[in-house]
Amino acid sequence: MTSRPDKHDPASLSLLSQAVHAGNEIDAGSGAIRTPIVMANSYALPDDPSGVSWSGTDIPLYTRNSGTNQLGLQQKLALLEGGEDAVVLASGVAALHAVFFTQLRSGDHVVVGDVTYEATFRLFTELFPEKYGITATFIDATDLDAVAAALRPATRLVHIEAIANPTTKVTDVAAIARIAHEAGALLSVDSTFSPPPLYRPLADGADLVVHSLTKYINGHGDAMGGAVIGSRELVQRIKSDAMVDVGGVISPFNAWLIMRGSVTLPLRLRQHLESAARVAEFLEADPRVAYVAYPGLASHPQHELATRQFGGRGYGAMMAFAVDGDSDAQNRFVSNLRVITSAVSLGHDESLIVHVGTDGPRVAAYPEPFRRLGHLRFSIGLEEADDLIADLAAALDATFG
Ligand SMILES: *Cc1c(COP(=O)(O)O)cnc(C)c1O
Repeated sequence: MTSRPDKHDPASLSLLSQAVHAGNEIDAGSGAIRTPIVMANSYALPDDPSGVSWSGTDIPLYTRNSGTNQLGLQQKLALLEGGEDAVVLASGVAALHAVFFTQLRSGDHVVVGDVTYEATFRLFTELFPEKYGITATFIDATDLDAVAAALRPATRLVHIEAIANPTTKVTDVAAIARIAHEAGALLSVDSTFSPPPLYRPLADGADLVVHSLTKYINGHGDAMGGAVIGSRELVQRIKSDAMVDVGGVISPFNAWLIMRGSVTLPLRLRQHLESAARVAEFLEADPRVAYVAYPGLASHPQHELATRQFGGRGYGAMMAFAVDGDSDAQNRFVSNLRVITSAVSLGHDESLIVHVGTDGPRVAAYPEPFRRLGHLRFSIGLEEADDLIADLAAALDATFG
């Protein structure tokens, strides 16, 4: 670093320090050194408000446009992802919808990764085609020829997940960005499974990055939120069209909680990544485990791509596996766990596991062991890795006798 780091100029800080200081301000009224929760819906207008833009989003005005806690969180997320600007919304799905709503109109076409979050899948298989005549082609995003072949003149957007939920398929973001841009389409990347500093898709050519803040960025399982990060121009359209005029705004309280949780994101991630690598190796070595999908294992089909794309920093802390046996065996195994919690969501401080069966339209795109055996989606938390491994070992013993 050439210039002296200064917390009043967060761009001068390295990422660990940005996570602490960015977006935080001394409160002018009280002198408090952490931005307080501002629950007011409205902010004082200037003496002559005739010049105020009622749909403006940059000064505190009305909480559906902007507010103290939103603005601070947006500033921090833009820095952490290396984008010009960010918008925060009520949930990850609100953020996904905001991208699709602002970028697409009737007659447009989208290319979507075939392994994708449930709501993304349903938006593009049912809601957008039926309501708005927006069509989608689902492709295996690891097959770059298939991605290129799916693009048409009407394709406005390619949407993929850097590490896909739930199979952990890894997508080559730089390659897909080139293919999308050659065809005049934008690339949006759902990077919920690979938060910074593990990965920053904008640096690889993505136009927009989407996060469920509910997951790693808040990290404590107690608030929902979503974010989109990208260029000033693209994010401004999302703010004015999807935030102000559709209204999926985040609560100031949730923005404050997520701001607080995100302070420790880089530190938490370090532990998540280290424990996940150990747990994945333990599972893969146990003969009672039928398969493990984790990008950090040499057996993962995109292991080399993941090593290159994530710069050797790690492979995320999400994995999927199944124990030998049928659906009842998976349920028995989960019920035998005493540390790991059976619940949806991920990226929390506590380890979470969810048994997903073999029914439903999404499963058709999953690789073979997922289709035949179902899977246990496993989010490795911040407990001691030895405790997690002991819990898994004891549950295997109890299940297989
Ligand atoms: C959870 C999740 C979402 C949706 O986020 P919510 O905050 O639950 O609305 C989107 N994408 C991925 C990959 C997720 O895991």
